[in-house]
Amino acid sequence: MQNLPIEVRELYAARQRIYPLIRRTDLVYSPTLSARSGAQVYLKLETQQVTGAFKVRGAANRLLQMTPAERERGVITVSTGNHGRAVAHVAQALGMRAVVCVPKLVLAHKVQAMRDLGAEVRVTGASQDEAEAAALEMAAAEELTLVSPFDDPAIIAGQGTIGLEILEDLPMVDAVLVPLSGGGLLGGIALALKSASRAIRTIGVSMARGPVMVASLAEGHPVQLPEEASLADSLTGGIGLENRYTFALIRQLVDETALLSEEEIAAAMVYALKEEHLVVEGGGSVALGAILHDKVDVAGKTVVAVVSGGNVDMALLAQLLAEATG
Ligand SMILES: *Cc1c(COP(=O)(O)O)cnc(C)c1O
Repeated sequence: MQNLPIEVRELYAARQRIYPLIRRTDLVYSPTLSARSGAQVYLKLETQQVTGAFKVRGAANRLLQMTPAERERGVITVSTGNHGRAVAHVAQALGMRAVVCVPKLVLAHKVQAMRDLGAEVRVTGASQDEAEAAALEMAAAEELTLVSPFDDPAIIAGQGTIGLEILEDLPMVDAVLVPLSGGGLLGGIALALKSASRAIRTIGVSMARGPVMVASLAEGHPVQLPEEASLADSLTGGIGLENRYTFALIRQLVDETALLSEEEIAAAMVYALKEEHLVVEGGGSVALGAILHDKVDVAGKTVVAVVSGGNVDMALLAQLLAEATG
């Protein structure tokens, strides 16, 4: 593995740094998914993570490496969901100021969740791009540190600690499936796994509606796609045409990708609830969904599906359950 933008020892350093602020989550065997797929299937439960999703690992690793002067001034980020919550949570734990910029269409309960964590939420701009522009301006004007949701070595290293935990709990793992959007999660996990053994298969899973990283891999460079609404809302959004780290990592370290339709995502969320008794958000369900819907050939193998988050609107989940059970 050559010319990678980040080294595996940074994952071990991240692990030492972040454990006071995050949970080491469980890896659980799934008898039902194993029986259906003919594989030995395990689920890595980031639904148990502080703030309900894995993103607090990267946020903790990033904020803990800021200088005292930077900490004094605070952080700013753009997010409608799990990354905003994670940054707000870590900033609160460290006694720092946190500003989260969100576009005008954001749902009120998401804004409230971040305010409850002590963040200042600025509702600004019609789109994600406009909110980003506003955040850049404010970062410069108020000397705040801008925290990227994925394209930052410290964020990638934080997410990669999940890969180290999987290797410790299940050294004989053959393949790992990971939800994929900007690629911080998959990039970090793939770095951990491939450093242990090139033979461990790394598989990214996205929604079929606007999978920007998968389209970028096909083109050989970062591309933009029109943003579409999806049940996997935590996976929507671009990778940045100026992507610096995650595209290169994913291109070198990821073996396969798979895509799920909206119906398949809904079925995966309902399956997780009914069979695994897990509350999982759309984006968190796609790796498990790829096994459920036979998107990958894993028969006879020992595989892990990362269940990346559980922050789902309960009314939506209830509706999907009602539709599924007729
Ligand atoms: C952010 C997020 C992802 C995707 O992570 P990337 O690093 O952007 O690929 C997957 N699942 C959940 C629940 C998320 O919040």
